[in-house]
Amino acid sequence: MTENKLSPAVIDELEAIVGEQYVLNSPEDLVAYSYDSTFTSARPNLVVLPGSTQEVSKVLEVANRELIPIVPRGMGTGLSAGSIPFGGGIVLPLTRMDRLLDIDLDNMMATAEAGIITSELADALARKGYFYPPDPSSDHYSTLGGNAACNAGGAHCLKYGITGHYVVALEVVLADGRIMRVGGKATKNVTGYDLVHLLIGSEGTLAIITEVTVRFITPPETERTAEAIFPKLADAGKAINAVLSSGAKPSMLEIMDETSIKSVEDYLHLGLPLDVEAILVIQTDGDEAEAVRGIEIVAEVCRQNGARDVRVAATPEESAEMWHARHSISGSLGRIRPNKLGEDITVPHSVIPRLITRIKEISARWNLPIVIFGHAGDGNLHPNILFDKRDPEEYERVEGAVGDLFRVAVELGGSLSGEHGVGVLKRPYLEMALGPVAVEMQKRIKQAWDPNNILNPGKIFV
Ligand SMILES: Cc1cc2nc3c(=O)[nH]c(=O)nc-3n(C[C@H](O)[C@H](O)[C@H](O)COP(=O)(O)OP(=O)(O)OC[C@H]3O[C@@H](n4cnc5c(N)ncnc54)[C@H](O)[C@@H]3O)c2cc1C
Repeated sequence: MTENKLSPAVIDELEAIVGEQYVLNSPEDLVAYSYDSTFTSARPNLVVLPGSTQEVSKVLEVANRELIPIVPRGMGTGLSAGSIPFGGGIVLPLTRMDRLLDIDLDNMMATAEAGIITSELADALARKGYFYPPDPSSDHYSTLGGNAACNAGGAHCLKYGITGHYVVALEVVLADGRIMRVGGKATKNVTGYDLVHLLIGSEGTLAIITEVTVRFITPPETERTAEAIFPKLADAGKAINAVLSSGAKPSMLEIMDETSIKSVEDYLHLGLPLDVEAILVIQTDGDEAEAVRGIEIVAEVCRQNGARDVRVAATPEESAEMWHARHSISGSLGRIRPNKLGEDITVPHSVIPRLITRIKEISARWNLPIVIFGHAGDGNLHPNILFDKRDPEEYERVEGAVGDLFRVAVELGGSLSGEHGVGVLKRPYLEMALGPVAVEMQKRIKQAWDPNNILNPGKIFV
């Protein structure tokens, strides 16, 4: 982007819209908005923090007129470089727009501004006795708008579904500044195309999400958690399939491989076993009888499939400790190598054992540690490649390993991303995953919604 598009006159105009204090251009502010949770970065020319949908609309009118790239941003926890302004322009964080607007108990739906932190919405509903299931591990520091823009998942998604299954309506601002509402509270609606679900997962490339209406449900009466210890990773893979076809109906089924276990143990000293290749953390829920019967089946099936030990949490505190270990993996990996590339591939769960074997082969072929953990129950693994970005030779090997991971996922009937989105990092592999015709149709959709290519340009497609 050329600097003159953000002339002093344009900056004055933006300051008049949102207020002078909400237009940032000091070097330290620009650096702070240069990153997401990947290892990449690029500086914006300006950061503009709108406080209302009307302000977003006016900012977009200016940007569209001046052809200034707009990169929407929630909390910057994304793992595909989606909120990094590689072409410069304006980063537009929605974080000032964080109000919970309405809890409609009759329809069991809630409406919030896009910048609300997801766990704050879930906690507000829990205080009223309700349950908002989509629970990305980042739910305490990511936004509902960011979750909708990436179609975020989480551990509960195995039984309860992903963000897109809960969003019923959106308010968005289009590239030219027009405000549009799509969807609604009626349970059934096939009037025209389903624009809500076109926007879900669109990664800020089609419109800015300003308001989100989600449905919520009643919570399960109780939960039970088990930790199954497997000397052999391959046995853990087989146990996943056996549990899923056992009738136990787990609500969460997560895997930690030996490097994840060691990394968390070195960091938190929880007493995790260091002589095994995998731990499965599994939860069942429902009424008391259902949850207890479910976890008994889980324990039995894991033992039959090679678990050395299965521990069922006796108290909610023990259960929380088991989940604490799983949720601490990502953060603990920085202690092993300075950088990590967290992938997000999915496969049908029946081929998880084959996927795990193939990831191990890729790790050996490229001589790189690849940590395996994730939402094994729904076939969504997060192989994390650990490396040192300062070593160009090593980074070349990382790129080779990433290509192999994606090829294996597609070959096994899966996809490049289960929940983090394409962003920039998976862009080169889009055609391999979707085929040229589907990519062309997606590019035409982008062209129709954003003819000047100002909304998050360069994300998903070149
Ligand atoms: C430790 C850790 C654990 C994580 N665990 C999970 C997990 O379990 N499941 C999961 O799905 N993800 C997970 N993530 C990834 C990330 O938290 C999610 O992708 C999350 O949805 C991003 O929300 P955000 O508010 O941080 O958005 P950002 O990172 O700021 O943005 C993400 C993308 O959405 C776009 N965007 C953001 N807000 C809007 C908006 N209002 N309108 C239009 N576009 C917008 C951005 O342009 C960008 O393309 C994890 C990340 C970390 C760091």
